[in-house]
Amino acid sequence: MAYTYDPENIFAKILRGEIPNTTVLETDHALAFRDIAPQAPEHVLVIPKGPYVSIDHFAVEASADEIVDYMRAVGQVCQQLGVDLGSGGAGFRAIANAGSNGVQDVPHLHVHIVAGRPLGPMLVRD
Ligand code: 5GP
Repeated sequence: MAYTYDPENIFAKILRGEIPNTTVLETDHALAFRDIAPQAPEHVLVIPKGPYVSIDHFAVEASADEIVDYMRAVGQVCQQLGVDLGSGGAGFRAIANAGSNGVQDVPHLHVHIVAGRPLGPMLVRD
């Protein structure tokens, strides 16, 4: 089975400049912007610029340059928000939903950085 990327997904449109966003950080291979429906005082999405559906797709097929740049961007966003542990920040949650069981709505890899309040247990049982 191969990964299938839909170039009409909403984050692809954001990357092409067809839909506006509130950018927090842009690097060679990553874009970070505020979630349109924040779940906490800070809620930023970090996406790769390349056409990757999910974190497993990215981890398996992205180049080393893309992976390094993207992971550094995650760290830089945490620093920019002041939530990184390195500067004594109060922490955050990094979430990458994937596929139907992961309840991923947008099929372009995004790591949610959620912060600004205690976030409670990681998962709530139905
Ligand atoms: P998922 O459920 O795929 O992990 O998360 C998708 C996220 O994308 C949701 O938190 C949702 O609020 C956010 N989102 C959906 N459409 C847009 C949009 O057009 N702009 C922004 N900034 N965020 C969006």
